[in-house]
Amino acid sequence: VTVFAGRKVAVFGLGGSGLVTAEALVAGGAEVFAFDDNPDSVANAAARGVPTADLRALDFSSLAALVLAPGVPLTHPEPHWTAVKAKAAGIEIIGDIELFCRERRAVAPDAPFIAITGTNGKSTTTALIAHLFASAGWDVQLGGNIGTAILSLEPITDERVYVVECSSFQIDLAPSIDPSVGILLNLTEDHLDRHGTMENYAAIKARLVAGADAAVVGVDDDWSADIASAIDHHGRKVERISVRRPVTDGYYAEGSYIYEAVDASTRQVADLAGIGSLRGTHNAQNAAAAIASARLLGLSDDVIEKGLKSFPGLAHRMEEVAKIGHVLFVNDSKATNADAAEKALASFDHIYWILGGKPKTGGIDSLAPYFGRIARAYLIGAASDAFAATLEGKVSAVKCGTMERAVAAAAEDAARDDAAEPVVLLSPACASFDQYRNFEKRGDHFRELVLARAAAGATEE
Ligand code: ADP
Repeated sequence: VTVFAGRKVAVFGLGGSGLVTAEALVAGGAEVFAFDDNPDSVANAAARGVPTADLRALDFSSLAALVLAPGVPLTHPEPHWTAVKAKAAGIEIIGDIELFCRERRAVAPDAPFIAITGTNGKSTTTALIAHLFASAGWDVQLGGNIGTAILSLEPITDERVYVVECSSFQIDLAPSIDPSVGILLNLTEDHLDRHGTMENYAAIKARLVAGADAAVVGVDDDWSADIASAIDHHGRKVERISVRRPVTDGYYAEGSYIYEAVDASTRQVADLAGIGSLRGTHNAQNAAAAIASARLLGLSDDVIEKGLKSFPGLAHRMEEVAKIGHVLFVNDSKATNADAAEKALASFDHIYWILGGKPKTGGIDSLAPYFGRIARAYLIGAASDAFAATLEGKVSAVKCGTMERAVAAAAEDAARDDAAEPVVLLSPACASFDQYRNFEKRGDHFRELVLARAAAGATEE
């Protein structure tokens, strides 16, 4: 990025995207002072040719900006010390998405840029949008919160579409964010530990759609609905998304169908029936938002329909790992709390449920309405005793301890079930840290065990 060429910029946070940001600023001719609390990260940055400096000792008044990595708090619960210092010196505090936006305005203001946020469904929607445009033959640059740091994407041109997932932290650090299409999926009370009040959290998320040329807003929660109305009042284009009721301008879901409504006239644009990677009402919201953005940028119905059908889905989110005999195996390891597990339980009828791990407050009490769908539960990890107590007398449950034992027991029980499609579902409603490094490792382990069973079954035949 050349927007700070010849000027002095401090960069704090040199793990992951912070380091990429510092490198991009150096490459663009800025005079960079990079730092991190972790000396190893500083040494690593220095080894890669990024000029480092102890920001505790640096006078900030000669700087043009402080660039923060997305994990570093700008406000809540308390601003990082670099942010305090920058405010005192009167210099701006920004992040990598802001740098991208400024660069885009400078070099290719018409380059298609879709930004996605929301409390839930960001990664799925982002990946689906990228897939739709890739299926249409576009040069897709996918990044942001979903993985690849935005400044390591290919240089901005009108011939590429940038599909960027934004966390609230990233939006907080992007005061001038102005995508061609801004998507706000939903807002619920999550992450408040990092943003203080719901008002503050909503205000941050709202900026992404308020600054967009066209906004796509899920209106099924009151916070998002209010944000959509506020944008209306500014005379901007808003496509409303609902999975609860018909809308008059936008896209809504009924059963497996997605409809487009323009001034009260309605037509069917997609049928999600049979698309395993987009099961469940929550995915209808994600799909409708993705369709809206694709239509706004001119993709045809045909291309959208084909893209939806071939969407492979994301790993660890209701990922269909294998079908062994008539039993489907689904990896939903990303469901680290009861809310997320609820989506999975609501999507199937005959469930052999593997759950447990490091429990969260509230446990699985809120999932009681779904207990009738569970043929049997297989408990792993630290939550086993507590969950066994919750399930007692309602759901048959076995304490398995490990994933190996849980998968073996669930697979054997499900194989004997004569329901049309029993499902062995890993949707733990718990963090993984008691047994795994992260939810990805837990899901990978489940997948390996299932694929090993599938392979063993295949050689027996
Ligand atoms: P994020 O990137 O926002 O964390 P993901 O797309 O990774 O979201 O989905 C994570 C989990 O959140 C999914 O496994 C599912 O349980 C749930 N989820 C996905 N989309 C939605 C949605 N639109 N509304 C509510 N929950 C959702």
